[in-house]
Amino acid sequence: MSEKKILVVEDEVKILEVVTSLLESRGYQVIQAVDGKEALVLFERENISLVLLDLMLPDISGEEVCHKIRGKSRVPIIMLTAKAEEEHLLNGLHIGADDYITKPFSLRELAARIEVILRRVSGELKPLYQSNYFEKGELVIDVEANILKKRGQQIKLTRSEWNLLLAFIKYPNKVFTRDELIQIALGEEYGGYDRTIDSHIKNLRQKIEDVPKSPAYIVTVHGKGYKFGGV
Ligand code: CA
Repeated sequence: MSEKKILVVEDEVKILEVVTSLLESRGYQVIQAVDGKEALVLFERENISLVLLDLMLPDISGEEVCHKIRGKSRVPIIMLTAKAEEEHLLNGLHIGADDYITKPFSLRELAARIEVILRRVSGELKPLYQSNYFEKGELVIDVEANILKKRGQQIKLTRSEWNLLLAFIKYPNKVFTRDELIQIALGEEYGGYDRTIDSHIKNLRQKIEDVPKSPAYIVTVHGKGYKFGGV
């Protein structure tokens, strides 16, 4: 059985209950929220695998909740909308929802959509290292101890370089955009030109690549960004 936690945000108690019992019967653990504020608090506290988010909530709108979650997480979000709200749908997808489903919906369809998205995400974002230790070729990364070694020699990284390296090894199949890498390396508040990230990448390559000009670990994906090539 799956141990995945799904956050269901819905102010209509009847829908909340029906969806909860459906998901629990499929082996998911359900965390319930009846408004946006509660949803954001619970999202912070729990390790959520997917969010099912009603668009019309009594306090902050589902759109805003979606936007706030997206500001800090790539967790899959499925929006629940009423028929009359369909013009919001494009907006919903624009603000970063992965999918939407229109009420009234069939429970079977809802369960199927959730399964598809969770399967897709676990394929895309499969962490490369199972523990806090990673070894590839001549690189050894001890995540917990903050130690990087190459050919047995310890290499010192700056905080930004370390953050970048961890993101790359954690999600080796993902192509990171410059914007994403800036957030990872420097934090959201950074407002600089996005090519700044290229110099961090360049420095990181100098430290870990055999031939920095022909990198094997931090690979450029033209027109998109960078990905980890050490898989
Ligand atoms: Ca509602």
